[in-house]
Amino acid sequence: MLEVRNLCKTYKGKGKHSVTVKALDNVSCTFPKTGMIFLLGKSGSGKSTLLNMIGGLDKPDSGEIIIKGKNSKDFSGSDFDSYRNTYIGFIFQEYNILNEFNIEQNISLALQLQGKPNDKAAVEKILKEVDLAGLGKRKPNTLSGGQKQRVAIARALIKSPEIIMADEPSGALDSKTGKQVFDTLKKLSEEKLVIVVSHDRDFAEIYGDRIIELSDGKII
Ligand code: ADP
Ligand code: MG
Repeated sequence: MLEVRNLCKTYKGKGKHSVTVKALDNVSCTFPKTGMIFLLGKSGSGKSTLLNMIGGLDKPDSGEIIIKGKNSKDFSGSDFDSYRNTYIGFIFQEYNILNEFNIEQNISLALQLQGKPNDKAAVEKILKEVDLAGLGKRKPNTLSGGQKQRVAIARALIKSPEIIMADEPSGALDSKTGKQVFDTLKKLSEEKLVIVVSHDRDFAEIYGDRIIELSDGKII
């Protein structure tokens, strides 16, 4: 189980006319073990900031994250590294896949970055799970946007994470292709916790088991 308590984060601008933004203002919530949870809100409401804190990509100014009963305040640097690398799979709006490698290689790279050997059977199995069976030898530039995003999901899955975090995963896609990506994430949420950042209320209401709505850094 995952819980955040009283998270605060302020961004201070540099320079004379800079503004200070309270991106997260005392945010507390708990997440279930499985299911699809949406972080919904307008642009600038603090969704990505919250996701990045939960994912250990950035640190709050104050507040804590409880992961499997352990408080992030008691985490060492290497605890955070292993949390990020093995416990969570990230999916970003821009796919972040490497065009010079084929699909299989893009996925197995995630294993190699963890110091694990390549596992062809596992890659095959995951390609099937995200409905990309048979496309392993293709280069990313021959795929549609929705297929690329599913490669990114496959790459997150190969690490067998317990939590999938996706920041505007359909942001670069039309709504039909976006739906395919959400269908894939929904299927995964039967066994994992899937946290999705989105500004699309329609998708959130269709797919979300729960919606956490943010406005000006607060849960509303
Ligand atoms: P969302 O994902 O909901 O669009 P963000 O979490 O990205 O919102 O941003 C929340 C607020 O914090 C916004 O006002 C944004 O401009 C500000 N912000 C986010 N990241 C930074 C940063 N690295 N430096 C300064 N301000 C930031
Ligand atoms: Mg964002």
